Amino acid sequence: MKLVTFEHEGETRIGALVDGERVVDLARVEPRLPKDMLSLLAGGAETLALARSAIANAPAAAQLARSAVTLKAPIPRPGKIICIGLNYRDHAAESNLPLPSFPTVFAKYANVVVGPGEAIVLPKVTAEIDYEGELAFVIGRMAKNVAEADALDYVAGYVPFNDISARDYQMRTSQWTVGKTFDTFGPMGPALVTADEIPDPHNLTISLSIDGEVLQSSNTRHLIFNVPQLIADLSAVMTLEPGDLISTGTPAGVGMARTPKRWLRAGETVRLEIEKLGVLENPVVAG
Ligand code: ZN
Repeated sequence: MKLVTFEHEGETRIGALVDGERVVDLARVEPRLPKDMLSLLAGGAETLALARSAIANAPAAAQLARSAVTLKAPIPRPGKIICIGLNYRDHAAESNLPLPSFPTVFAKYANVVVGPGEAIVLPKVTAEIDYEGELAFVIGRMAKNVAEADALDYVAGYVPFNDISARDYQMRTSQWTVGKTFDTFGPMGPALVTADEIPDPHNLTISLSIDGEVLQSSNTRHLIFNVPQLIADLSAVMTLEPGDLISTGTPAGVGMARTPKRWLRAGETVRLEIEKLGVLENPVVAG
């Protein structure tokens, strides 16, 4: 399923994108289904099965044209947004940083989240805004002390995520948080693609372009710490909950590592595409 959060006639609801063209309004077909994504995910396999049958049985009245709704971030307010730094060899090299022996973990907060088509707002206090196209995964079950061998059972699905970063703020101190947490610095979407559609998350092409110029082009097979390793390492520390989002890191080609450095500019459109997950586009606007 390609699960979406959408706005229609002033109401925010959850749905499933079908054939790329239609959005099935899930709670309209099946009133027992919740109306927000966190509740849907918290319901686990049983609720997802109910959603599946709702899609199969959706009457025409519950199917909206994609163009008639506004897609929002699939998970508008994740409980946690955990990011992994330096998780592709080529990006660690271009950053002049050594390969990590343990995942480099940092946090973003729910204030960063925007959806497809929503603006990345350039803050006035910095001119060094960079893009980082990333594969993110979303937790589907409470996870604590999960073994790598079992870890994929805890993944609800996958979504493109852009880890927007203010490099001057990020590098000002040893902690990256302040450079990573400006409002709108976490575009996500268009859909949360459920794990059954992505049997191998470690073989997906990923590319990011701005106004047609390809700046990042890689494959998730080059991840240093893969999805099961990340779940094992993170769940040894903290309980992961349904709806928590973990972004796996970015490949080479970020603006900071280019000569000359290439920062986001107002008026540009950033396009992140991940195989099987779709395209996330966001305009850049001045703050
Ligand atoms: Zn990142």
